[in-house]
Amino acid sequence: MTEWTQVLAAADAAARWHVADRRKGQAKEPYINHLIEVAHLVGQATAGGDPALVSAAFLHDAIEDQGVPAQEIARLFGADVAALVVEVTDDKSLEKAERKRLQVLNAPKKSARAALLKLADKTSNLRAVAASPAEGWPAERRLAYVAWAREVVAGLKHDNAWLAAEFVHAADAAEAKIRAEA
Ligand code: ZN
Repeated sequence: MTEWTQVLAAADAAARWHVADRRKGQAKEPYINHLIEVAHLVGQATAGGDPALVSAAFLHDAIEDQGVPAQEIARLFGADVAALVVEVTDDKSLEKAERKRLQVLNAPKKSARAALLKLADKTSNLRAVAASPAEGWPAERRLAYVAWAREVVAGLKHDNAWLAAEFVHAADAAEAKIRAEA
């Protein structure tokens, strides 16, 4: 497989694995929209130079949300892609609050590539908080979510100024929108 056909294979697998999945926001977008956005962000951030990272972006929620085994991702897409997905996967056996605490604690331990993937994921999530907030989330809860995302991102070690700026822009815009509506 060429590199770009492997990226398309990852997009295809992601579309199938998340076929019944919707985003939490009131627009109830297909989940694949989020995966494409994250893949696009890491692709832009690396100027197309890291196709395995783009594949991992398509697959980054497959273990956590769809229970796809890491071994299956390794078999289909190789050990490098699988390792990246594992690096950004939370332990779902833990309580939500504990998972969120661990994301802050573990952010500085991520490899630079996994850090970029997490940064892209958080950027996409904050854009969604502004564009299509989850139903029933009061302003306070949405602001707390933005603050937590900023905390996770502050710990990530990478050298991508462009994606860092995209994140800050998304976080600032989300806060401004929430405050304007409150
Ligand atoms: Zn995600």
